[in-house]
Amino acid sequence: MATKHIVCTKCGRINRVPTNKQLASGQCGACKSKLSADTPIDISETVLNRLLAKDEGSFLLDVWAPWCGPCRMMAPAYMETAKHYGGALRFLKLNTEAFPNAGAALNVRGIPALLMFQSGSIVDQRAGVMTSQMMTEWINNSNIAASLTEI
Ligand SMILES: [Zn+2]
Repeated sequence: MATKHIVCTKCGRINRVPTNKQLASGQCGACKSKLSADTPIDISETVLNRLLAKDEGSFLLDVWAPWCGPCRMMAPAYMETAKHYGGALRFLKLNTEAFPNAGAALNVRGIPALLMFQSGSIVDQRAGVMTSQMMTEWINNSNIAASLTEI
């Protein structure tokens, strides 16, 4: 059976997920955390590096900081969009105040920034505040749209 390597956003362990199995129902073999959720997940620099090196799935990354007003303004829309996809797509968050090196390594010019990843590479990105509707349209017209039903 075909599988994809999915990095646990909690402990960084690689899990093999059958491509026909909903990502949302998967559980990490090591720490038992859900592999995806219908709410945004905060990740560490260590987990981000694991995702970039080993992950074969798709995810969004909200690059933000607590001091950034527009970032905080966009947070509810990101949460609403995560709920809309019900765990079929991972909605991750990177706090660049807590992990400044990780933020710098992503070459983000300004925040808020939304980065779209597939197999550890940035395939698209958006800068500035977005509404939930803008996010959904962006996702549904992107290269990762097909993979949302496939995984
Ligand atoms: Zn885990």
